[in-house]
Amino acid sequence: MIFLKATPAAVKKAAAFIRKGGTAVFPTETVYGLGADALNPEAAAKIFEIKKRPAFDPLIVHVASVKQAKMLAFVTPKAEALMKRFWPGPLTLVLPKKRIVPDIVTAGLDTVALRMPANPVALDLIKRAGTPIAAPSANRFGRLSPTAAAHAERQLKGRPDIILDGGKTRIGVESAVLAFKDRRIYLLRHGGLPLEEIEKVAGPLASVLRSGKRPRSPGRLAGHYNPSAKLILLGKKKPELKKGLRYGYLAFTEKPALKVKKAAVLSPSGDLKEAAANLFSHLHKLDNAGLDIILAEPVPMRGLGRAIMDRLKRAAATRKKG
Ligand code: AMP
Ligand code: MG
Repeated sequence: MIFLKATPAAVKKAAAFIRKGGTAVFPTETVYGLGADALNPEAAAKIFEIKKRPAFDPLIVHVASVKQAKMLAFVTPKAEALMKRFWPGPLTLVLPKKRIVPDIVTAGLDTVALRMPANPVALDLIKRAGTPIAAPSANRFGRLSPTAAAHAERQLKGRPDIILDGGKTRIGVESAVLAFKDRRIYLLRHGGLPLEEIEKVAGPLASVLRSGKRPRSPGRLAGHYNPSAKLILLGKKKPELKKGLRYGYLAFTEKPALKVKKAAVLSPSGDLKEAAANLFSHLHKLDNAGLDIILAEPVPMRGLGRAIMDRLKRAAATRKKG
């Protein structure tokens, strides 16, 4: 495996690997992705292999333009309006797929998830590869998402062909995911584009989080983003620490008065954007400190706070082995 700073020459190298059916880790504005040619089923299979991701969990396909999106999916006027407003950016749209998209990428569904990332390295890579790039987050399935190249390197242990280091990701949580069904728009996942922003353009969304009848969203498992230590999401009550256990603490705005082995603060000024950008890097740091338990404070449920709380709740849920 090659590990390179994301210079134009390195991006060129990564694009060559993608064209030949290989895999490349690259930065986006949300988290690092593990990419392969979305139109090559054998290449896409490598992603599932490397991540140990179950085959029922579809991949997001990354494109460099609306035009490229239209080669892969039937883009409705509503969807195109959202693309024009928010792309490139942290918004994924699930649309009826065209035949050109291999089944392995969509986990057999007749829809495909598309996104245009707002990161110059990612866009340059897609353009130079000359093909859309299927890319989930560059971590082992079910574990913490990578917001730095080193996080991906540690988890994927030399198995991708190349890692492009583009520094810390700007947004730090994955994209928001929308699906279109029966003339309604459903929010499948809170993400880097806050619900409030989307609703300003799309009107009120039918949320899978609010409605029983919903489009399928495989891969939205309770146990996800799991650190090695056990994560406990705190409520209003002050936690009691058990003797003999090593505690870490993820605070929102200030360090706790508790005696813990390691503490991290998401945003001293209470800025949810800063908190989202720090979320996974702080969790990685805490998780590398040899802890038994990480206590995490809740954050306000507005703006990016919704995506942060979604990740923390899943990080706190035990992952089913499988
Ligand atoms: P990620 O793991 O960040 O790459 O996000 C992929 C997630 O997007 C999946 O786990 C699904 O929840 C969602 N997704 C991708 N493709 C589809 C699809 N065709 N229909 C519904 N949800 C999808
Ligand atoms: Mg992921």
